[in-house]
Amino acid sequence: MPSGMRYSTLEERKQYYEREFPLKRVGDWFGERENTVFAMILGRHTGIVLPEYRDIINNTVVVDDYKNLEDVREFIIQYIPEGVYYDRNLYSDIEGCSKCGMEPRDCWNCKYFLGQELAFDIDPENVVCPYHGNYEKKMEIHQGLSFCMYEFKVVRRKTLELYEELNKHYNELRFVYSGRGFHIHVMDPEAIKIKKKEREKLGKKWAEKYPIDPWVTSGEMRLIRLPYSLHGMVSRICILLSLGEIKSFDPRKDRKCFPSFLKM
Ligand SMILES: [Zn+2]
Ligand SMILES: [Zn+2]
Repeated sequence: MPSGMRYSTLEERKQYYEREFPLKRVGDWFGERENTVFAMILGRHTGIVLPEYRDIINNTVVVDDYKNLEDVREFIIQYIPEGVYYDRNLYSDIEGCSKCGMEPRDCWNCKYFLGQELAFDIDPENVVCPYHGNYEKKMEIHQGLSFCMYEFKVVRRKTLELYEELNKHYNELRFVYSGRGFHIHVMDPEAIKIKKKEREKLGKKWAEKYPIDPWVTSGEMRLIRLPYSLHGMVSRICILLSLGEIKSFDPRKDRKCFPSFLKM
């Protein structure tokens, strides 16, 4: 892992969500969007979890019954997870869809399903590194989820290249530092309607060219890290970045992505 990046402790996670997590900005991210489902992963990658949740350390805890974002924050503080996500699917009725009788992956045909936010996860684990090898090699030496600055710089450049490509078709692109690489979210309304088959094709076509995770683009993986949440493996905040900021963004040094427990 690049220097200075490390797992957050339970106390640090708690402190972040109690004192710093900017709910107003999270609200701005979603704007008019309704019926968002949130999810938390408690300790799958770090092994760090509250003792009372030891049994569900690897589970995805879904938050779909809440009044407002303050309520969501309270769930987060109850579990203090290593990662917080949201479901990119748009539902007209969450409860209706949860009872529609279909497997989640088939809900593309369910009547409560409106579409899915298109997103790209440009990830260092998909970069072939001269020091650490390809994805398979990294998994073999148990370094699948750690990464190095060589890989980070490749994904940073690829994010800008993918932006150039997407900008030919879309206008509302947003960039989020994912804690490891970057996410590009396509917020143009027509992108929500793209069919599953089309997304699968896109994922395949660009997986190698832009080290993206094809499962995220295809929609098979619906969850994406919540902007402004704390990435508990690297102790960084998943901040929004402007296009201009990406070029020289360095998560080892840029204090905008530092939680205050690292600033002391
Ligand atoms: Zn459904
Ligand atoms: Zn490497």
